[in-house]
Amino acid sequence: MAIRIIQGDITQLDVDAIVNAANSSLLGGGGVDGAIHRAAGPELVAKCRLLGGCSTGEAKITKGYRLIARHVIHTVGPVWRGGVNNEAQLLKSCYLNSLQLAREHELESIAFPAISCGIYGFPIRQAVEIAYTTASDWLDLNHSAIDICFVCFGEDMEKEYLRFSER
Ligand code: ADP
Repeated sequence: MAIRIIQGDITQLDVDAIVNAANSSLLGGGGVDGAIHRAAGPELVAKCRLLGGCSTGEAKITKGYRLIARHVIHTVGPVWRGGVNNEAQLLKSCYLNSLQLAREHELESIAFPAISCGIYGFPIRQAVEIAYTTASDWLDLNHSAIDICFVCFGEDMEKEYLRFSER
């Protein structure tokens, strides 16, 4: 199965698309969003201004500008508010809509950060389960050969993903 788990900085990857855990303005923010905008340069925010924002669970694609990655798929994860506000389904939609865009653009590789696991406060274990199972089911269902990479910022996060890949 074409799922890889690595530790590192997503902005440094040579893939067709990196996914940004953006906020709904798409105009940049902290965490991985800030890192991606810094690495992509000002052309990225200029383009994002024209996109009119993005709803939670949806995804939009741009070029990668100064990144090594050819594209950025911007998706907006849910803010964790106790788990009774459809957070799990919305997080799943982030992965599905990003993968769908990758397929529409005939991309061969995509790298995801742990969407919603930073500032947005989603419980890590549950978020990782959603990420991994959604991606793996999607690959099966679509008979897709796309290479999916989960990029972990630190060893603790990597351990969480490895629990699923070793099942
Ligand atoms: P959110 O607002 O969706 O919670 P964050 O950017 O705060 O997004 O965090 C999402 C995840 O991305 C966290 O696990 C965080 O540690 C991780 N992260 C932050 N910077 C990077 C980076 N440069 N590369 C990969 N992952 C990163």
